Amino acid sequence: KEALLQVRELSVEFPTRQGVLKALDRVSFDIAPGEILGVVGESGAGKSLTGAALIGLLEPPGRVSGGEIWFEGQRIDNLSAAAMRALRGKKIGAIFQDPLTSLNPLFTVGQQLTETILAHLPLNAAQARERAIDLLRQTGIPAPEARIDQYPHQFSGGMRQRVVIALALAAEPKLIVADEPTTALDVSIQAQIIQLLKRVCRQHGAAVMLVTHDMGVIAETCDRVAVMYAGRVVELGPVQQVIHCPAHPYTIGLMGSIPAMDEDRERLQQIDGAMPRLNAMPGGCAFHPRCPQALPRCKQDVPPLVEVGATRAACWLHHAEARA
Ligand code: SF4
Ligand code: MG
Repeated sequence: KEALLQVRELSVEFPTRQGVLKALDRVSFDIAPGEILGVVGESGAGKSLTGAALIGLLEPPGRVSGGEIWFEGQRIDNLSAAAMRALRGKKIGAIFQDPLTSLNPLFTVGQQLTETILAHLPLNAAQARERAIDLLRQTGIPAPEARIDQYPHQFSGGMRQRVVIALALAAEPKLIVADEPTTALDVSIQAQIIQLLKRVCRQHGAAVMLVTHDMGVIAETCDRVAVMYAGRVVELGPVQQVIHCPAHPYTIGLMGSIPAMDEDRERLQQIDGAMPRLNAMPGGCAFHPRCPQALPRCKQDVPPLVEVGATRAACWLHHAEARA
C-alpha cells in the first residue's frame, strides 16, 4: 500500500551554549492512508518533537538537521512557512493536549468551524453551517443546533476537546496529528474521547499519528506503534505483535507499566532510572544504563532497527539471529 506519510531519517537538533544537542536521531516511519499509528515513550523521548517537526511547528531554536518528510508523494520538510501553513489547514489537522490552544476564545465554535469549512470546501454559508452542526453531532456534542452559537468557555474541558476534534476534521484532512489529546482532561472521560477520536477519524478516512505515553491507549486505539526512546525509534510494528511479543527491552519495560488511571502517568515504575537528558546522552544504545540485558557492545554502537518476527527493533540482542 502506498504510504500517505513517509518520515525518513528525520533528525532535529537544538543549538545551545553547551553545543548542539541532538533531540531526534534518524527517526523513520510510514503512515498508510486511514491508519492509526501510535507513538509512545516516556516524557522527553521525542514524541511531540516528531509530531511538531512533521507539521512544521518546531519551536525555535529547534531545527530539522537531516532527513526528509514526504506527504502524498510530495516532499514537505522544505516547504515555505506559508505553504506549510496551507497544508496544515487543509490536509493535515492537529489536536493538542490543551483544547484552548486550538480554539479562539473570541469566536463561537460555529464561527470557527464554518470559517475552516468555507476556506477549504466548495460550500456556501448555509451548507457550511449544516456541516458544522453535523460535525458537532458526530463528535457527541448534545443539541449541536444550539451549542454551535456558544463560545469555547461555555463548554466543559471534555466538550471542548470534542469541538477541537470536529475542527480538526472540518477541512477533511488526510492526516491528524494528535499529541496527548486527553492528558489535560478529567480521567473519567479520557477513554471516551480517545474512542471518539478513533471512531470519527475512521469514518472520515483520516489517518492519525497519536502521541501518547500510555501503552493502554495504544493497545485500544492503534493499528501500529512506534516506540521511542531518547530521540530514536527503538521498536516499530503492528500493535498486537508489539504488545504480545515485544522485542526491545524498553518496550518490555513499558508493557509492564501500563499505569493505573490515577497514577502519575509520566512515570514508568517498572524500569529503574530515568530517560537520559539531551546533554548527557549515553553512547551506543541510549537505553544501556537502564537495560537489564545490556551487552558490552551496547555501550559503543547504536543498534539499527532489524526485523524481529513481525516487528522491528533496534537492539543488539537480535542481531546474532538476524545475521544467522
Ligand atoms: Fe539493552 Fe543492548 Fe538492546 Fe540496548 S542494545 S536494549 S542496551 S540489549
Ligand atoms: Mg510531549
